[in-house]
Amino acid sequence: MAQELTARVKEVIQRTYNVKSVRLEIGARIDFKAGQFLAVTLLGNPALKKYLSISSSPTETCYLEFTKKLTNSDFSKAVAQLKSGDTVKIEYPFGKFTLDDPGADIAFLSGGIGITPIRSIAKYVVDKNLGTDMVLVYANRSVKEIVFKEDFDAMQKAYPKLKVAHVLCEPAVGFKCIPGLINARVIRDEVNNYPQRKFYLCGPPQMVEAMKKILIAELSLAAENIVSENFQGY
Ligand SMILES: Cc1cc2nc3c(=O)[nH]c(=O)nc-3n(C[C@H](O)[C@H](O)[C@H](O)COP(=O)(O)OP(=O)(O)OC[C@H]3O[C@@H](n4cnc5c(N)ncnc54)[C@H](O)[C@@H]3O)c2cc1C
Repeated sequence: MAQELTARVKEVIQRTYNVKSVRLEIGARIDFKAGQFLAVTLLGNPALKKYLSISSSPTETCYLEFTKKLTNSDFSKAVAQLKSGDTVKIEYPFGKFTLDDPGADIAFLSGGIGITPIRSIAKYVVDKNLGTDMVLVYANRSVKEIVFKEDFDAMQKAYPKLKVAHVLCEPAVGFKCIPGLINARVIRDEVNNYPQRKFYLCGPPQMVEAMKKILIAELSLAAENIVSENFQGY
């Protein structure tokens, strides 16, 4: 059951030019599953409430982290001002974008800030050394938009059963990536054994819908092998 508490900001981390992670000190820790989300209310103002995925893993026990793409909204402006020692109200855990069967091979298809719950799941699998075979196909406009790049680089080194394929609309010279957008060909080429995998999709609703169509209509995957999280609001 979801619970509500006030949490103190421990640290704020600039992830990219327009994405920040906020780490919260959690005294009375509430259990959550990797991939779940929370509700954050800022400045005690119910109008400044948003649902955000938890980007940390349950194995990272010293803090609970959320990661926000900063826009021109009042909520984003308030996140941009957060500093160590401030307090926020949170309610969690919510959601079913979670790993149910660590024995099954999985594939993540993600766009932009939709990487947050996937980072949580991947970190959990790596830290627990669960043996789950994971392929991440991560789409962004350009290299400077890639969130958690260093994190995924480190996880790939530590855990050979994680493969990351970057897809970029604007490829950069010297950066290994697939140019363009995620399509059926990219999935066939990058996700070995794709018909046997469970697919986790996360990103803006339009992207998630497009990915579902490709998986079901073009690649003949069964709907029950697809789990998705829509980041409403983008
Ligand atoms: C389950 C779930 C998990 C999610 N997880 C995440 C996550 O991990 N990270 C994340 O970043 N998002 C996540 N989202 C999306 C998040 O909840 C917000 O909907 C999204 O971040 C947009 O919020 P916003 O405050 O930036 O913009 P909104 O207030 O929704 O505004 C939408 C757009 O309008 C513009 N706008 C709004 N107010 C103004 C203004 N006063 N002046 C000018 N322009 C304005 C903004 O620039 C923005 O582009 C998640 C959503 C769900 C449902």
